Amino acid sequence: MSRSPSLGMPKVTNGDIISVFFQHVRRYGWQTLGSLVAIAVAESCGTWAQWYYKKFVDLLSAQTRDVQAALEVVAVIIGIHLLGWVMWRVSGFSTGWTAPRIASDLERSAFSYLLGHSYQFFSDSFAGSLVRRVSCLSRAYLDIIEAVYWRFLPLVVSTGWVLYFVSQRSPKIALLLSAWVLLFIVFNLYFVRIRHQVRVERAAKDSEVTGAIADALTNIVNIKLFTGFGREMGIFDRLTGERRVLHSKSWYVGEVNMVVQNVLMLLVEVVVMYMAVRLWAQGTFTVGDVVLFQGYILLLFNKLFDFGKTVRSLYEAFAEAQEMVELMAMPHGIVDRMGAKALNVKQGEIRFEGVNFQYQSGQTILKKLDLTIASGEKVALVGPSGAGKSTVVKTLFRFYDVTKGKILIDGQDLSKVTQDSVREAISLVPQDPILFHRTLRENIRYGKPEASDEGVIAAAKQAHCHAFISGLEKGYDTYVGERGVKLSGGERQRVAIARAILKNAPILVLDEATSSLDSESEHLIQDALQALMKDKTVIVIAHRLSTIMEMDRIVVLEQGGVAATGTHQQLLQTEGGLYKKLWQLQAGGFLAAE
Ligand code: ATP
Repeated sequence: MSRSPSLGMPKVTNGDIISVFFQHVRRYGWQTLGSLVAIAVAESCGTWAQWYYKKFVDLLSAQTRDVQAALEVVAVIIGIHLLGWVMWRVSGFSTGWTAPRIASDLERSAFSYLLGHSYQFFSDSFAGSLVRRVSCLSRAYLDIIEAVYWRFLPLVVSTGWVLYFVSQRSPKIALLLSAWVLLFIVFNLYFVRIRHQVRVERAAKDSEVTGAIADALTNIVNIKLFTGFGREMGIFDRLTGERRVLHSKSWYVGEVNMVVQNVLMLLVEVVVMYMAVRLWAQGTFTVGDVVLFQGYILLLFNKLFDFGKTVRSLYEAFAEAQEMVELMAMPHGIVDRMGAKALNVKQGEIRFEGVNFQYQSGQTILKKLDLTIASGEKVALVGPSGAGKSTVVKTLFRFYDVTKGKILIDGQDLSKVTQDSVREAISLVPQDPILFHRTLRENIRYGKPEASDEGVIAAAKQAHCHAFISGLEKGYDTYVGERGVKLSGGERQRVAIARAILKNAPILVLDEATSSLDSESEHLIQDALQALMKDKTVIVIAHRLSTIMEMDRIVVLEQGGVAATGTHQQLLQTEGGLYKKLWQLQAGGFLAAE
């Protein structure tokens, strides 16, 4: 496994992919082996039966007219067919039992590994592409099963038996057939490679066409304003023209492949049947032998005909699986230390000691940040946009590890305790809360899964959301829509506050909404926040003047460090200070009243 420097994503090989599959298949080892053996036996029955058909034909064409022997052979043939049918059903039922289990185990591993990735990972990735990757691993596994169980294994088993039985009657023809099978496979692999390259180019062109259509549709106003119809159609025609060429090319390669395949089949049919008839004429072969050889050749054609398609589907399945295996091979960005203990919060004192932090982009955002927030203290973080306020909070949650220095809660270094225990100790009410597409009850209860319905309602009442929830037709059982879109911004925030009230963590972080809420909503939210802040250590990323003034202390951040700290009045008295400037900018006319 090596790393691709551009994406930071490890490059995985087909061996890595097989090893991921194997780890899951191993848990159902016996059942999987059972399926494979059943398929092998079932497939063998086809070739065995044909061998007995040969005997049957020989008996019918013999002068002796041995009815008893002929009937015995028929009984054997029926027995073989019965065994074959039973084995097919055994393989079908056992695969039906194991394959879905292995597929869901794979999907589960993919999803749980993905959830363990760091905050940074999700900030850098497109959610849409991740959603697709989770299910592609199990889909790829099912495609591989389909190809291996129902096409490759039968091909190998049948070809093996055919060559064996043919060698019993004519080693020369067996040798010829072996060489032919090899040649057929080599030719097909060659064409698969060419066709795969063309398909990759075609898929890339497909994306370009889709991109051009999407770009045009999102810019429909510009197209109309700048009369760009002709230009857009020009781009579209050029791209679809290029795609058409590739499409035809892929089709033609397929047709040439078919021609080669048909010629090879015709050749072997003519040569083998000619040799068989010659041997019959010499008296070496019986009528049954000639029938048997014809039957075996048709069987081989049947198994080999889709060989190219099978190899192609395997290529595609591996390419699909690769996308998720790459994510699974990527180490989690933030991991707990070996034997890390849970954070034990008694007071809720927070200390940043000489903290430096930079995002992967390289610029240092927090510079030697020293800040102590006493137990139960309520502190507002203010500062110009980009000063690092949200970054302070992200490092407190240990969404990122600091590059230098320490963050301590009640004297315990956050890098040495478990991440879960840190996040359990802190509640966050974000600026624009996102809710699960679940019921309001489930969303509030997310703060404390074991809370009773009464507990949920009590929290909702404190957060002033009970009234609006009760007004809904389905009350607490109302679904909130994807990301909570069916609620207003103010309602979503009150639901997030109810969730935080229920969580009742000793430390609280509020990222205040900047969007202007109507005064009714704002009043309700302020009131709800007062209930929430009681007896907690609180950090508010403050945007609203009213909140700032109610805080015990204001910390002014500038370029990742503390520029000043004090109460509202103290900071205002510092002439030329950043806080005074910010205050003047934000308060505007309101300042005149001071
Ligand atoms: P605002 O008041 O506008 O929300 P802020 O003080 O909260 O700003 P931060 O969000 O902490 O500022 O951002 C500080 C700096 O870090 C900014 O320059 C921002 O561009 C950068 N930054 C934030 N998140 C990332 C990220 N995930 N990757 C790289 N840089 C980031």
